[in-house]
Amino acid sequence: MSPRTEFRTCPLCEAICGLEITATDTEVIRVRGDRADVFSKGFICPKGSAVAALHTDPDRLRAPMVRHRNGGGWREVSWPEAFATVEERMMPVLERHGREALATYVGNPNAHNISLLYYGRQLGRSLATRNGYSAGTVDQITKQVSTALMFGTTLSIPIPDLDRTDYLILMGANPAASNGSLLTAPDVLGRLDAIVQRGGKVVVVDPRRTRTAERASEHHFIRPATDAHLLMAMAHVLFAEDLVDLGHLADHTNGVEEVRRIAAAWPPGRVAGICGIDAADIQRLARELAAAPTAAVYARIGTCTQEFGTLAGWLVDVLNVLTGNLDRPGGALFPRAVCGQPNSKGNPDMPRTIEWGRWRTRVRGAPEVMGQLPAACLAEEIDTPGDGRIRALVTIAGNPALAIPDSERLQAALPTLDCMISVDNYINETTQHADVILPGESHLCQPHFSATLYQLAVRHVAKWSDPVFPPDPDRPREWEIMLVLSSVFAGRGTEVDTGAADDAIVSARIAKEVADEWSPVYGRDPDELFEAMVPAVGPERVVDWQIRTGPYGDAFGANPDGWTLARLKQHPHGVDLGPLESRVPEVLRTLSGQIELAPDYVVADVARLEDSLERDWTGMVLVGRRNLRTNNSWMHNVGNLIAGREQCSLLVHPDDAQRFGVVDGGQVRVASAGGEVVAIAEVSDEMMPGTVSLPHGWGHDQPGTRLSVAATRPGVNSNILADPAAIEPLTGNAMVNGIPVTLTPA
Ligand code: SF4
Repeated sequence: MSPRTEFRTCPLCEAICGLEITATDTEVIRVRGDRADVFSKGFICPKGSAVAALHTDPDRLRAPMVRHRNGGGWREVSWPEAFATVEERMMPVLERHGREALATYVGNPNAHNISLLYYGRQLGRSLATRNGYSAGTVDQITKQVSTALMFGTTLSIPIPDLDRTDYLILMGANPAASNGSLLTAPDVLGRLDAIVQRGGKVVVVDPRRTRTAERASEHHFIRPATDAHLLMAMAHVLFAEDLVDLGHLADHTNGVEEVRRIAAAWPPGRVAGICGIDAADIQRLARELAAAPTAAVYARIGTCTQEFGTLAGWLVDVLNVLTGNLDRPGGALFPRAVCGQPNSKGNPDMPRTIEWGRWRTRVRGAPEVMGQLPAACLAEEIDTPGDGRIRALVTIAGNPALAIPDSERLQAALPTLDCMISVDNYINETTQHADVILPGESHLCQPHFSATLYQLAVRHVAKWSDPVFPPDPDRPREWEIMLVLSSVFAGRGTEVDTGAADDAIVSARIAKEVADEWSPVYGRDPDELFEAMVPAVGPERVVDWQIRTGPYGDAFGANPDGWTLARLKQHPHGVDLGPLESRVPEVLRTLSGQIELAPDYVVADVARLEDSLERDWTGMVLVGRRNLRTNNSWMHNVGNLIAGREQCSLLVHPDDAQRFGVVDGGQVRVASAGGEVVAIAEVSDEMMPGTVSLPHGWGHDQPGTRLSVAATRPGVNSNILADPAAIEPLTGNAMVNGIPVTLTPA
């Protein structure tokens, strides 16, 4: 059989690059960037071609695994036996101890997988527990809370208009390694270069001179966790020098005077010493931001996962509003995704609110936020005796044993669970403790659609990817796994007609929408709509529904020029639906229908920022980092991605190395209130003096895992150093950047 060429979206990170995959019926021959892809235009990173290695990885599970009780090891079983074992081991625990004894942990890959994304919600309802944990509280929840309070929904995140802006400030973000986050844009570095080439300016603010910083017009070191201080001082300059100009937002914004009052107390000279940035530079940056024809401030992980994460996320958007750059081309805009999103559907006068504090963790009383409990609390909820102790856990594509604070304690706690079920492709540091592992499918055997990421993209684009290889007919699809688990946890057993269950879900969705006068299919015949989508099933049908009822959809014939999934499939390189556009006030879903520039919940936290000014900021602190060749904890089993120079090293500035007797290539003991690790030192002046950096997601030296490649270069687990007591009070987000540490040669 001669090779064929398939065009597919890379499912591995937020950049959603187009892949050109040459394959026979059974194997991949070559993977390269799809030059005709409307969005990525041929760009890929080294991870893109790893889809082939992940597909053939002998460690990737192909069949369900059941762990013998009493330490007897693993047994490969049939799918019916696996589901029966889930029911047999899990349900008695829940009958005995109730749903408060059950917790879930959902990992980052869920956002990239339409089966888990859509059908995970169904499972979540059946699990019926309040103990929801996810990677979101070691990541972006701070930004989601600030944007929800300012604009009305948790994904109303303004996206910097990279392709048209004249001036960009990037904080705590290194797209040279991450490829962009909460910012979907293939080849971010190329887009940054283009800003400079067209006469604009890119300013990077980061405690490390990253590869992104090296490409920028200007770089400023900043002491970790002082981003909110800097941004507040910039707001001060804007007000003090009469540079505030909201432009078309003036009639749509509440709270400007409140922000003026707050910022008045934050002149640059007050924060310069703490941030490590001259007052004159702070003043100049604010002036340049205001003077640029168009500009945007963008901040990411380093600003999200620290002590003042929500304040920093809020102030980024405050600056964009105050300079009139929010919601204008070249500034920061709200995407309108092809599949619809909460800020582009329904009655705009029916506002959405986020909630918090409806329940709390048992041990330390940490409040839920948006239904999430802090991941940093999970270990103590399992190993602390008493009523309501977590005794059962379901993990979906997540590895909390490496990914969250207190991970050493969690590794000790997981074996004490009465039952644990994992949906995962590997026996890793977490799933090795599961009773049953239900493996997902290879990326190449399932369809892909970047539903979440289109809501964060710098252009309106869309693309459908069919599987490269036909799915194995002898195993359930991932969405079917979710539906069978839903049935088990709902007490209905393992015998499920997944097709009928899927029909029922879709029918319920249609019934709701035809009754909604704001829906494009309001008043239509539900049966007619249902038939129009058949014979597609599973996530493919959900995507068709979302596109057709979305902002560009055909509304099932009402808009004949609109899009359907069938039409999208005729464009293997994707479709470009145009640049981002102004959407205020239509996009707003706040109670007032206005931008809330000074939400009470966030403003109340300024007092804590004020208190921090009295603190001694001179100690050594640790920040994380990412490497272009890896992705959190789960791509370390691909040989050519971890080959070469050691990636898991502790970056130390030469002055600090001399001060603490650390030598390049030597071993260094790093200790914090959370624990200690011994890492290999890499002395480099790319670090700000007083700051060291260790990447996260490593620590593959646990016995009992089946990650044969990762185990050859295990690295150390940086989350051992993350103090579980240190969580951001507004969101419960882990403070994994700015961890106080001490260094000693080991
Ligand atoms: S940048 Fe992300 S989406 Fe693009 S090839 Fe690399 S891993 Fe895939």
